[in-house]
Amino acid sequence: MRHRLAPVSRAPGTGMTQRSPTPVYDPDCTRCPRLARYLAQTRQRQPDYWGRPVPSFGARQPRIVIVGLAPGMHGANRTGRPFTGDHAGILLYETLHAFGLASRPFSQAADDALVLRAARIVNAVKCVPPQNRPLPAEIRSCNRYLAQELEELRGVRVYLALGRIAHDALLMALGLPRARYPFAHARVHPLGRRYLVDSYHCSRYNTSTRRLTPDMFRAVVGAACGLAGLPLP
Ligand code: SF4
Repeated sequence: MRHRLAPVSRAPGTGMTQRSPTPVYDPDCTRCPRLARYLAQTRQRQPDYWGRPVPSFGARQPRIVIVGLAPGMHGANRTGRPFTGDHAGILLYETLHAFGLASRPFSQAADDALVLRAARIVNAVKCVPPQNRPLPAEIRSCNRYLAQELEELRGVRVYLALGRIAHDALLMALGLPRARYPFAHARVHPLGRRYLVDSYHCSRYNTSTRRLTPDMFRAVVGAACGLAGLPLP
């Protein structure tokens, strides 16, 4: 099964479009041998876990694209939805709900009827990496999916990058040089008619050490909503 956001015209028998042969998601992808082995071990140990590449989640034509790092072992890798079922999603979904971007303030499971409005969550890497640390080659390998998905999201006004790795992966997917757009929390980078807004990642480590506080995160998401032309609460 291969997923696309907006098929253009299907090439007969391929499941791909004629405009571009790259899917935005392949649940059977094994391009990264280390991650494929890790997922296979996960499926053996935890047969009730999703245990596959995790697809993006949210509006099909969003104004804001939130870029995360990778699935967490007991979060997205368990539930099959980004930032769902573990600590990292708590502050994210609370904040999205406060700004009217999520229908509920928490995300428990992929079938919990939560809906995102005008926002979509994508990850730099779609498979859970050991110790939450993907290798540079894995980030490069998965970037083809991210680049293709961004290519198809034409109405986006703001990219909100959660952490430096997401920031760098986004620039890679957009074909932009890292040196020109250094990562810094709350920094806004104009990208033509769009913007890139940076935030520290809303991980358990960052929130428990208060490197990222709820107020700091609300300020960043509020700035992203303002730049995207969305009404503020
Ligand atoms: S991380 Fe991305 S490229 Fe690598 S195996 Fe998973 S889906 Fe494929």
